[in-house]
Amino acid sequence: MGSYFENAMEKLREVVTILGLSDADYEKLSTPHAVLEHALTIEMDNGEKRTFKGYRVQFNNARGPYKGGIRFHPSASLDEVKALAFLMSVKCAVVDIPLGGGKGGVQVNPKELSEAELERLSRTWVKAFYDDIGPERDIPAPDVYTNPQIMAWMVDEYSKLAGEPTPAAFTGKPISLRGSAGRLFSTSQGGYYALRELAKIIGMKPDKTRVVVQGFGNAGYHIARILHNEKYHIIGLADSKGGIMVSEGGLIPEDVYKIKQETGTLVGVECNGDKCKEIDHKHVTSDGILEVDTDVLVPAALEGVVCKDNVERINAKAILEMANGPVTPDADRNLFKRGIYVIPDILANAGGVVVSYFEWLQNKKDEQWSEKEVLDKLEAIMKRGFNEMWEISQKRKVDMRTAAYILGVKRILQAMEQK
Ligand code: NAD
Repeated sequence: MGSYFENAMEKLREVVTILGLSDADYEKLSTPHAVLEHALTIEMDNGEKRTFKGYRVQFNNARGPYKGGIRFHPSASLDEVKALAFLMSVKCAVVDIPLGGGKGGVQVNPKELSEAELERLSRTWVKAFYDDIGPERDIPAPDVYTNPQIMAWMVDEYSKLAGEPTPAAFTGKPISLRGSAGRLFSTSQGGYYALRELAKIIGMKPDKTRVVVQGFGNAGYHIARILHNEKYHIIGLADSKGGIMVSEGGLIPEDVYKIKQETGTLVGVECNGDKCKEIDHKHVTSDGILEVDTDVLVPAALEGVVCKDNVERINAKAILEMANGPVTPDADRNLFKRGIYVIPDILANAGGVVVSYFEWLQNKKDEQWSEKEVLDKLEAIMKRGFNEMWEISQKRKVDMRTAAYILGVKRILQAMEQK
């Protein structure tokens, strides 16, 4: 398996060939505009100094300012940030919002930092990258292990440096600090709208559809919760410590979440108010959950989890990629041959950046939209994006990822050529 960035470039190369584009076009599309790296030195609570690697990749801004999250993770690397920044460019183009692609990261295990250390690291990131970001230039947001609180520290630091309140410099902020209604669960809400479009086309009825979700953080928890509320049967859930599954009925994500908050692990429970009782469930490993017999599999944790080693054992009719890059290119080819639908990350999880775009617009216009207004607008964009992608996949007889790339790459190239 190639690196994450190599995999993304392999896909780009394939699409460039399908579209009959030139090598010069491939070069234009595959070269990041800027790759920035800074050493972030902070004082720890015990007075020691530690230095972490901080990254920002600005991939392409032909369609609008760079946009993309900042990830705090021990394995964050330049390769990964570059891949994610490229994917953001394509993602914004697929759903046709006027933004480009960027991504940031810090190589750190945030679980080992105190809250005060995390705050110092977040503020230091902003000081280091201040000259290259901003509301009209590059607008960061949360990603893995970063959250609204971290965005609040970051926007505060940015505003101090700018000498004026600048809420539009970051998205994914708390609502009280000019964040958007619905942003917290918008990635998953968008994923649901995309799955609903596929379900309509292939005749999948929610109350007859079983769903398994790997990952129980922001993306995983909310997609499980939303699908459960829409009558889907959630038969398996997993996080980094392991998973649970039921053979009949379904799990209630809100109740499982409540117990996870209290005990730190996933347990199959049903709660009535504060009283929770265990239901019949089995344990499965974090990876084993991917191979459970189900109708819909939702990888919502890490990249590369469905790969050539386990793809033959994937037992689902459709995969909804809430995580970025969970299916490798070899696995993708295998799934397509077997007629398993994959709703690709660049459409499936675009709801997050769409609502980030709404947050940015609200901040710039000094408005605050209601949750209903946000979700109605998100629904329209996701429906349009899904159907444009689906039409291309049918016309060209390609999988949905290839179709989404075709849609996104054409739009980016057109913008680059018209500048
Ligand atoms: P998060 O930090 O909130 O949650 C990550 C979850 O994954 C946790 O429950 C963790 O326990 C679980 N996990 C980690 N390793 C695992 C393993 N080996 N097996 C099973 N579970 C494991 O992160 P998130 O924001 O939910 O992001 C998850 C994925 O979704 C990432 O790929 C991210 O890029 C993507 N994504 C998130 C958003 C968003 O708005 N949150 C938007 C677009 C894409």
